[in-house]
Amino acid sequence: MRCLACGKLSFEIICKNCQTTLLSTSLHSREVAKDFFVYSFYNYTDISKLLNAKYHFFGDKILQILASNSFKKFSSSFTFSNQVYAISIDDVVTKDFSHSAILAQNLKSHIIKPYFNVLKAQNRVSYAGKSLEFRQKNKRDFIYSGKQYLNIILVDDIITTGATMQEAKIILEKNNCEVLFGLVLSDAKY
Ligand SMILES: [Zn+2]
Repeated sequence: MRCLACGKLSFEIICKNCQTTLLSTSLHSREVAKDFFVYSFYNYTDISKLLNAKYHFFGDKILQILASNSFKKFSSSFTFSNQVYAISIDDVVTKDFSHSAILAQNLKSHIIKPYFNVLKAQNRVSYAGKSLEFRQKNKRDFIYSGKQYLNIILVDDIITTGATMQEAKIILEKNNCEVLFGLVLSDAKY
C-alpha cells in the first residue's frame, strides 16, 4: 500500500519515515482554568487530514499509529506515587470503534489504568463549528458512575474551547476524584 502522508510504498498505512518525522511530538500545554492544564501532542491542522480519516474503515489503524507515537510514549515515562486512572471524555462508539477509548488504552502502564464507560454525556449535541457561548448553553451534562477518590487523567482526541474538559473535571471532583490534568491528541488553538 501507499503511505497516507507521503504517498511512498509502505508496509503500514503511515510509513516508518513519516512516523519518525511527521509524527514526532512535543508536548504543548494549555491552562484551561486556574491550575488545570491540558497537554496536547499535535497541532490540529497538522494532523487533521489523517484524523479525519478516522471515520473511514481503516481509521482505527491511523489512530493507533498516532496514539502509539504520543500517548504510549508519554505513559512509558510517566510516574506517579499512586495508581492513576485514564478516563475518556467521549468514549461513545462512532462506527466500529471509539477514538478516545483507543487513546486511553494506549496510556495503559503499571501506573495508569484505562477506566472505560464511567463518564457519560447525556447531551450529545454536536459542537462542531459552534461558539463557546453555544457550548456553555448546551452543556454535555455528564454522569459519572465510577469509583470515588481516584487520581484521574482526562483523555480526549481534541481540545477546542476547553469547556468540555472543565465540565468533566467538575463532575469528577464532585465525586471526590482528583483530576491531575487533561491529555489530548491535538489542540485546535495550538
Ligand atoms: Zn510516509
